Amino acid sequence: MKTKRILFILAAAVFLISGIISVYLLFLRPKPEKVRITSDGETLYVLEPAREEDRLITVEYEGRENVIEIKDGRVHMLKADCPDHICIETGWLDNGLPIICLPNRLVIEYEDGRTDAAAG
Ligand SMILES: [Zn+2]
Repeated sequence: MKTKRILFILAAAVFLISGIISVYLLFLRPKPEKVRITSDGETLYVLEPAREEDRLITVEYEGRENVIEIKDGRVHMLKADCPDHICIETGWLDNGLPIICLPNRLVIEYEDGRTDAAAG
């Protein structure tokens, strides 16, 4: 009877540890570091915001302008002369959602976002 109990405790421990590891892999995985800026399907920049100096990037498309700001290792759309301003309202890229300016055909996204969804 004693060995049965030890086996049970061992099994429970293994189960618990593998659970902790899965949670770690799912939620605590570091974010992809590289950000890709695409205009009309063409990659303009691949940046590592954490290593960039604070600066502004201006992108033109058919005479319209978008100003992307890199500040404190983060990226957002500072100004845009598109009619809807959805890209500005998206805010910082922190949450992993791409910033898309549909009228000006501009996309700011994490580079990993484009690879196949095997990693979930
Ligand atoms: Zn826009």
